[in-house]
Amino acid sequence: MRNKVIREARINGFTAYSRISLALSQKTRRTKKCVVFTGARNTKGYGQIHLGPGVNIAASRAAWLLLHSVIPEGLMVLHKCDNPPCVNPDHLFLGNARDNVLDCIAKGRKYDQRRSRRGKFLKSEAA
Ligand SMILES: [Zn+2]
Repeated sequence: MRNKVIREARINGFTAYSRISLALSQKTRRTKKCVVFTGARNTKGYGQIHLGPGVNIAASRAAWLLLHSVIPEGLMVLHKCDNPPCVNPDHLFLGNARDNVLDCIAKGRKYDQRRSRRGKFLKSEAA
């Protein structure tokens, strides 16, 4: 549903889809391994694409949508490379919140549930 809204939403005459496409083509830089989003980032380092007043989409979600058209309800776009601003489609995969935690543990990052009910990564351990 949300994906459909994003695809069809029109903001200042542009579809949200074309804004995503434009942002990903203009605001990325190749590194040795990754394709890094160079536009705005949130406090955790994840790229953010501004679609309109109060409407942002994570750059990695946007990259996934551009290629696959859909993100099934309840799934997240996760990074194989552990590089939050990366939008390289080869480095992205879908998973749920549990997959995200297991992936982080597998990569050797500590997950501290004592810090909050939701559980947060220790700052020094975050990528
Ligand atoms: Zn990457």
